[in-house]
Amino acid sequence: MDQDQELTNKVINFSKKIGIDIIGFANPDLFDRFSGKNRPLSFLKEPSAVIIVGIHLYDIMLDVWSKADEIGKNFQFADSILRNFCNSIAKFLFKQGFESKIIPYHPGLYLKDAAALAGIGPIGKNNLLITEEYGSQVRLSAIVTTAPLMLGKPVYESRFCEECNICIDACPAAAFKNGIYDKKTCRDYNYSNWKILSTYTRLWCNKCIESCPVGKNNN
Ligand code: SF4
Ligand code: SF4
Repeated sequence: MDQDQELTNKVINFSKKIGIDIIGFANPDLFDRFSGKNRPLSFLKEPSAVIIVGIHLYDIMLDVWSKADEIGKNFQFADSILRNFCNSIAKFLFKQGFESKIIPYHPGLYLKDAAALAGIGPIGKNNLLITEEYGSQVRLSAIVTTAPLMLGKPVYESRFCEECNICIDACPAAAFKNGIYDKKTCRDYNYSNWKILSTYTRLWCNKCIESCPVGKNNN
């Protein structure tokens, strides 16, 4: 089916109306470099597009991790907001005659990579998505759909990072060795240093998000 500009405009307008800050559309065929369980095809037969939606973490506290002791599950406050947005988009597309599936987090898609494939922005030296509007201060979710939406142009290089090293210098754990993010170093640092807000609530370091100057005028 041909990509449908009118339908795409409708989805973008609807997303703005309900309060989504960022939206983009990635080609499902570009996910071949990920393992099978992390591809759109494992969530929906014959997907036409992967919709990436994002909200601006105007206050980094929205990114706080919580653990509900009685159910033993971790969740983030921002994720509950995104889940509602995704449900609204899926319902909107259902009314237009298309099937959609909201992608869970585990297993799911690699969201920042999906956003780069959708043309939303590049992956920066901080190993995170960078958006022109909000820098890395965004939280993402994804929906896979049969709707023939206009697909974005993937972004592979970060024009923001060329002469910049602010996030690397700001990292208290020195987790970027030779410019490469080391997950274990970051995690070990955070497990010893995260801010404990309550018995079940933790705030990750986030310096690599907060220090990035891109999009600061919108914060
Ligand atoms: S979260 Fe903190 S420790 Fe981890 S990479 Fe970012 S700045 Fe470094
Ligand atoms: S702080 Fe600088 S180097 Fe780091 S992600 Fe932002 S623009 Fe790129």
